Amino acid sequence: MQNKIRINGSRLWQRLMAIGEIGRIAGTTGCDRQALTDGDKASRDLFITWAEEIDCEIAIDNIGNLSATLVGSEPELPPVITGSHLDTQPTGGMFDGIYGCLAGLEVLTTIAQNNIKHNHSLKVTVWTNEEGCRFKTAMMGSAVWSGMMTPEEAYALCDDNGTSVLDELKRLEYLGAPVKATAKAAFELHIEQGPVLEQQDKTIGVVTSVQHMSRHKVTISGVEAHAGPTPMSMRKDPIKALAKILPALYEFGNDSGVDGRVTIGQIETYPGSNNTVPGELMFTIDLRHPIEENYKQLVSQSYKAIKSICEELNLPVEVGCFWHSHGIEFDKNCVNSVEKAVAHLGYSNMEIFSGAGHDACNVASVVPTSMIFIPCKDGISHNVNEMATESDVTAGANVLLHAMLDQANTFASNE
Ligand SMILES: [Zn+2]
Repeated sequence: MQNKIRINGSRLWQRLMAIGEIGRIAGTTGCDRQALTDGDKASRDLFITWAEEIDCEIAIDNIGNLSATLVGSEPELPPVITGSHLDTQPTGGMFDGIYGCLAGLEVLTTIAQNNIKHNHSLKVTVWTNEEGCRFKTAMMGSAVWSGMMTPEEAYALCDDNGTSVLDELKRLEYLGAPVKATAKAAFELHIEQGPVLEQQDKTIGVVTSVQHMSRHKVTISGVEAHAGPTPMSMRKDPIKALAKILPALYEFGNDSGVDGRVTIGQIETYPGSNNTVPGELMFTIDLRHPIEENYKQLVSQSYKAIKSICEELNLPVEVGCFWHSHGIEFDKNCVNSVEKAVAHLGYSNMEIFSGAGHDACNVASVVPTSMIFIPCKDGISHNVNEMATESDVTAGANVLLHAMLDQANTFASNE
């Protein structure tokens, strides 16, 4: 019985479309449902309605994380958990986060309706403020749950109007009591948010890691000078350094293999006048790689090149890291449960790393965790045009179902 069980893909799809109506951006399939707004509450309330249909225990913790639990036959055992987020970017889509929450609920619904026995409880969590756009700390709810951030730090975060997280949790009646962060295993199912699975024509991404990533600011000083009278050889021009630094950085990126990422997203000059040699240049570099050794090499090569090029041109330079996220190797045992589920279901698949941060990164610091990806159209996400197919949505949820059942230590009688 357990091996033959499948989720109801059309029910899952209809629920995705129903939540997608909340905060719909007119004339698009996109949504604006930022964290702890009325729209966010409405989507959570609808989630609770569906969870209560299968008699889940509903709980809200001290940062508004909402969870629905299907209690196992041995409730004292740690649960097998899954989850994601219902909040969106200001111009977000219908799938980023929402899919992981509703697929988790679909898994619980399928198990409840088929009377599949499980001794570990099964829990799906809606994490608060994953996107970090209204309150500017991404993955906030999972950070508090996993002890990486105190509730007080999170409560004090304010949006641009000065409204705090605590104000909104109280207003929306989503402020509960602290819970202990515990689970036997955790999974997060998500759209890839990149183009790899679609390009490789694979249905499932077995996510093994999250890449190391960091952002750096470079400031090079020059001397402002008139564009006409000042001979080229007599200029202290920081752009001369940039002209040599950029090819070097791109070369390091290419040399680090297909998984290396070098992005120069901001370049600013002072005073920014079209006929003045800039007195100062600032640019940022975003560096990423899934393998720690290669990542560290990318960072050290970049710093070395920037410093030596500026020294050669006799231009003072400051370079420093202003944001860093350590990469994550997901739990082998959880990854193995996903691999077994994919093999059992016969979906095309590949191992993949995550290029973005997810709640699963925080969860992984406390309990064994891994992730599952499905393709999204053209790799587009954080965009009203974000789209996935019903068949991929169904496949991913079936993988989640069997991975969770594998970890829930089900009874032999289910076989
Ligand atoms: Zn997400």
